[in-house]
Amino acid sequence: MMSYESTEAFALQMDREDPLSGFRAQFHFPKHLGKDVIYFCGNSLGLQPKSAKNAIENELETWQQLAVGGYFGGPNPWLTYHEKCIPFLQKWVGAEASELTVMNALTVNLHLMMLSFYRPDKNRYKIIMEAGAFPSDMYAVETQVKHYGFDPEDAIIEVAPREGEKLLRKEDILNAIDKAGDSLALAMFSGMNYYTGQFFPIREITAAAHGVGALAGFDLAHVAGNIPVHLHDWQVDFAVWCSYKYLNAGPGAVGGVFVHQKHAGKQETPRLGGWWGNDEKIRFKMEKGFVPKPDASGWCMSTSQVFNTVCLKASLEMLDAAGPENLRAKSIALTGYLEFLLSRLSNLDFEIITPSNPEERGAQLSLFFKEKGRQIHDAMLERGIVVDYREPGVIRVAPAPAYCGYLDVFRFYEILRDQF
Ligand SMILES: *Cc1c(COP(=O)(O)O)cnc(C)c1O
Repeated sequence: MMSYESTEAFALQMDREDPLSGFRAQFHFPKHLGKDVIYFCGNSLGLQPKSAKNAIENELETWQQLAVGGYFGGPNPWLTYHEKCIPFLQKWVGAEASELTVMNALTVNLHLMMLSFYRPDKNRYKIIMEAGAFPSDMYAVETQVKHYGFDPEDAIIEVAPREGEKLLRKEDILNAIDKAGDSLALAMFSGMNYYTGQFFPIREITAAAHGVGALAGFDLAHVAGNIPVHLHDWQVDFAVWCSYKYLNAGPGAVGGVFVHQKHAGKQETPRLGGWWGNDEKIRFKMEKGFVPKPDASGWCMSTSQVFNTVCLKASLEMLDAAGPENLRAKSIALTGYLEFLLSRLSNLDFEIITPSNPEERGAQLSLFFKEKGRQIHDAMLERGIVVDYREPGVIRVAPAPAYCGYLDVFRFYEILRDQF
């Protein structure tokens, strides 16, 4: 257990002792009244790594000078550009290289994965998910079940918090999976709920789904770059994520996909195909007959989106220099400090709805203010602290460890302490 103090001197000392504090200088911060803002919105859109601009300019130059030759020439041939992200992503999500690819964007990839791994028949057709999932995930699941002629009311099982509670209990999730039994085709959870910040027990959900003969897939939008996970060892069937939150790859950046080796290695695993999933050795023969690569890139369809991948690579390189496990360790300590400071406040009526166990959360704390939520959010913005607000009354505060520090968290606390 860390011992914290609610003083500026303590926060300054923690920043001085933080071995990762130098990484902050590698990001661009928006300005407020001429000063860098304090940015707690990396769970929505991560800050721009300073290396991104140069990386983009390099590829513009390759395009300028080599044109089509850039696919095979230049410093980073585009044919395999996306593969350079894989070794870094492996450490974040715990996968073999062959289980990962980057392509498209999150919701599109969720649909593509469901086309492969949600194969309902009249007996086994149900999908279990968390109630209050991110809207895009709800729409994806709803339209998938409708696509196969099922009624969402019947085919989608939502696990909700108990009356008067805000978080899901593990036993309720696992019991609901058991209860669905033979009717369950897929457990489809987010790795972390975007609203509460609750990190779900991925391994246990997966084991429970497999126990009733179903598959398990996860949306890791709020996990990738936030909490290192072990998808391969946990036997997760598939996962998808976006790269613009904690991975700092910029708006609309290329999405990430994990397909477990047990499926990815089988060319007969059903899917929709396109030429970029075809083996490179025969891709340019332009012949009939789709032969997917025996790895996750066998789900790629279109020419890879190089410019959407450049900033991801730049950011991953930097995060890797910090080290995923080091970032996670700092994140636990930093979010713990935020929680500690908030516990000292007696002047405001609010509740932290995110789990208090550090193993069940990442960088984000969601604060539910019974009143003044909007007002507090606005006051933060006026003072150069960027947080976000979700009705009713929830402020999400995400001190991303790559570019936030203890003094930032202290400043947030000070405003709550002194201005309300
Ligand atoms: C951010 C987020 C998305 C966004 O999906 P896009 O397809 O990238 O727009 C989807 N699901 C979850 C859980 C998210 O947090």
